[in-house]
Amino acid sequence: MSRSAEIIAVGTELLLGEIINTDGAYIASRLAEIGINAYYQTTVGDNPARLKEALEIAARRADIIITTGGLGPTFDDLTKETIASVFGKKLVRDQASLEHIRVFFEKRGREMTPNNIKQADLPEGAVIFKNLWGTAPACAFEAGNNIVVMLPGPPDECFPLTEKYVIPYLMRYSDGVLTSRYVRVYDVGESAVEDRLHDLMIESQNPTIAPYAKGGSVLVRITAKAEDRETGLRMCEPIVKQILAIYGRKSYEELEGGLPSLVFSLLKEQGKTFSTAESCTGGLVAKLMTDLPGVSDVFMGGVCTYSNQAKADILGIDPALIENNGAVSEPVARAMAENARRIYHTDIAVGITGIAGPGGGTEEKPVGLVYIACADESGTEVRKCTFGGTLKRTRDRIRTDAANAALDMVRKHLMN
Ligand code: ATP
Ligand code: MG
Repeated sequence: MSRSAEIIAVGTELLLGEIINTDGAYIASRLAEIGINAYYQTTVGDNPARLKEALEIAARRADIIITTGGLGPTFDDLTKETIASVFGKKLVRDQASLEHIRVFFEKRGREMTPNNIKQADLPEGAVIFKNLWGTAPACAFEAGNNIVVMLPGPPDECFPLTEKYVIPYLMRYSDGVLTSRYVRVYDVGESAVEDRLHDLMIESQNPTIAPYAKGGSVLVRITAKAEDRETGLRMCEPIVKQILAIYGRKSYEELEGGLPSLVFSLLKEQGKTFSTAESCTGGLVAKLMTDLPGVSDVFMGGVCTYSNQAKADILGIDPALIENNGAVSEPVARAMAENARRIYHTDIAVGITGIAGPGGGTEEKPVGLVYIACADESGTEVRKCTFGGTLKRTRDRIRTDAANAALDMVRKHLMN
């Protein structure tokens, strides 16, 4: 059986909400890949008594304890001292680490102060992981039934140390790697997907199947535990096929890079070009496409025509059309897509116009109403969408969902 883990993030800044615990998220995702279950994550301030308590609780309920933060040279960096006392380890100076810290300072022309020396003090018997990205080394040791790993807080150090040393080190405590494949399902709600896949989910223990709502659609994760990644991918295959067969055109297997990558590769395969005319998404579709290196082969460009005047002047939309229907309307979305397609000389174009909120909605045209048009040689399809969101994230959510829905329309046109 694989061992279980608890991640403890140390830092008062985390508790105050000044920084986000990205170390915890990163470590958790890497542990998941090697099949080590992290059942708890704890965040605790720079306070030795409370850190001691958190460590004692973790030692009882988890096999592996991984801490991040508090390994620095300053007086509030107390993780190491506290861990050493909780697990009854003496701190001993590691000459190789001390030399590394000395060289680190020398190379940068900075003076090493006495408090930096304490960064070379490590629990007796620990396996030391050299920090090539900073000064404080990471380390791991066994104490009774526990395995304790200490990582420095800065993500630029924590991430590569985890990747290069900690994950390979922890592999010995895992009995197999987890490998996931993903099927994206559009236009079906999360609970409907869950309902439809319910029997399959219960039947299938390895791989497991888990749907969750993400980016305005449902992502179904299929995860297999196997001795290696290739075997895991193969084990997922029949389930992936089954789900794709259930949802047909509404679904596709999501590969690395997500929907924009899929659209890019479909365009490239078919030798087709793409352009955009965006209003409420402010160029987000163009941004998502141009995030991909090499996309200039297929993506010709896009405009962000936010005002009515810009829609008329740049896209050549008849002002009367806007006047009669409103900027957020089916005919305007259609004209945006068709005119972009003509102006950019592309095979496909999308037009997006909507109300991202939080203000500006009316009873007839509420916040979240977005018209998305997709024009190609066979004609123009327009979708009327109503996106929702909660409180502060409304605007962000609506824009992201609209951009994804537009890309999904392009995907469907290309996969037709
Ligand atoms: P340093 O030598 O820089 O003091 P440290 O190991 O003592 O490193 P902390 O002092 O706890 O780490 O944190 C240093 C910085 O690293 C924080 O100001 C913060 O920017 C970042 N950091 C710390 N913990 C986390 C975390 N869990 N997630 C993301 N960033 C973090
Ligand atoms: Mg510090």
